[in-house]
Amino acid sequence: MDTTTKFYQPRHPEDSPFFKVLEANFDTFEVNFPTLFQAKYGFWRPVIRKSLEKFMRCGDLREGFAIVRCKDCGDEKFVAFSCKQRSCCPSCDKKRSIILGRRLTTEIIQPVAHRQWVFTIPKRLRIYYRMDRRLLGKLSRCAYETMRELFRSETASDTVLPGMFSAIQSFGDLLNFHPHIHSIVTEGAYTDDDKFIPRPYVNLRTALTIWENNVCDMMLREEKISQEVVNQIKSQKHSGFSIDNSVRISTGDNDGIHRLAEYIARSPLSLARMISVDPDGSVVYRASNKSCVPYPAMGDDTFKTGVKRNFQAFKPLDFLAEVTQHIPNKGEHQIRFYGRYSNKGRGYRQKKADELAELNRLLDIRHRVEEIKVRSKFKLYWAAMIRLIFEVDPLKCQKCGGDMKIVGFIDSEAKARDILKSSGLWRDRKTRLPPKALSPPQKQVNSPIVIESTKPEEFGDFIPDYDVCEVSEWTE
Ligand SMILES: [Zn+2]
Ligand SMILES: [Zn+2]
Repeated sequence: MDTTTKFYQPRHPEDSPFFKVLEANFDTFEVNFPTLFQAKYGFWRPVIRKSLEKFMRCGDLREGFAIVRCKDCGDEKFVAFSCKQRSCCPSCDKKRSIILGRRLTTEIIQPVAHRQWVFTIPKRLRIYYRMDRRLLGKLSRCAYETMRELFRSETASDTVLPGMFSAIQSFGDLLNFHPHIHSIVTEGAYTDDDKFIPRPYVNLRTALTIWENNVCDMMLREEKISQEVVNQIKSQKHSGFSIDNSVRISTGDNDGIHRLAEYIARSPLSLARMISVDPDGSVVYRASNKSCVPYPAMGDDTFKTGVKRNFQAFKPLDFLAEVTQHIPNKGEHQIRFYGRYSNKGRGYRQKKADELAELNRLLDIRHRVEEIKVRSKFKLYWAAMIRLIFEVDPLKCQKCGGDMKIVGFIDSEAKARDILKSSGLWRDRKTRLPPKALSPPQKQVNSPIVIESTKPEEFGDFIPDYDVCEVSEWTE
């Protein structure tokens, strides 16, 4: 693929299979939610409509764009805005996960070995997390406390702290609700005076017991389950709790950290795995492992346990219910840093926060087009991120190799339409967004999210879209 084709990525969001299912079924889904889905998924959450409306405009030049111009030859491009929604826009989720990987390796991860730790809970407890999403953050906290207790017992010290980064995943492979925690944790812990004590071998049995206790205690405190249920769970041979730390990343393996960060912060929804969409919106979705499973031979053990499914066929409304249950509420942080890697632990500087706030402000262009001035910080950061994603420089002119500069923002639909029409880039809207008037009565069941002392995801909100179209005729 040459640079030109890599660079020009005019994306037509309405061509995506997910967009098509939404377009044809969202109204019906929303209106019928209380009767069809409330019992299983909890009350309708307004964030679902808000996120999906934004997703349906992601990368759409008709919604406005930045204009980028070459200082040398005057060539111009348009850059669309992205929706920055979480867990419903695979494109924005992907970009966010790449930025996260970069941030981990450049700012956070210490030069020591790490392990991935995965923490799961019994099936019977999952429902509480769907009905009360506050618990997801508490589950993540339990995982951290498990690591802290484990390393304190392994080092016989009451004060050591591991460094930990966690992603709360609410999904299983086939979009089912399966709350669990993926973490990257230092293989050892830090003393008060910042010395690292490596602990490559830890007792997994101890870790599992601490994890079970921490989660059960938390759920008892939250009055979700009774002591009787706890006793019942703990008396079973296999409690349903599990812990895995089999993936190790050696010191300095930044690529390994990158790949893992992208994997654990990935989107619940993969467009590539929507392998068929019928005209009525029915979807066949496949698991991440697409290899076929052979039919078990007679007498095979899998006959008893059941063959693991790797496809799921959904009616359109069921598909939307499964996908949208993973959209987090506003303020519900999915990415968290703890211990040595918390802001406090790594001496987070106010300056950094100020810089990020400034970037966010600059990128919040819809509200402040008039006063925008392109600043080098913004330009550099944006260019670096896009190079990372596409291996091309969006601010290099393809015609002459000169530097491109953002020269303005178009934030009104009317203006965008005029410019796109005069430059031959206009596409009629075949689609419409679902009407607001039909929304079911909204009732917020979830209590407000308690934000922990860490400052997660402050970086995740300022990504312009990478879609770029050539402008042939239009000039300012
Ligand atoms: Zn040029
Ligand atoms: Zn998006």
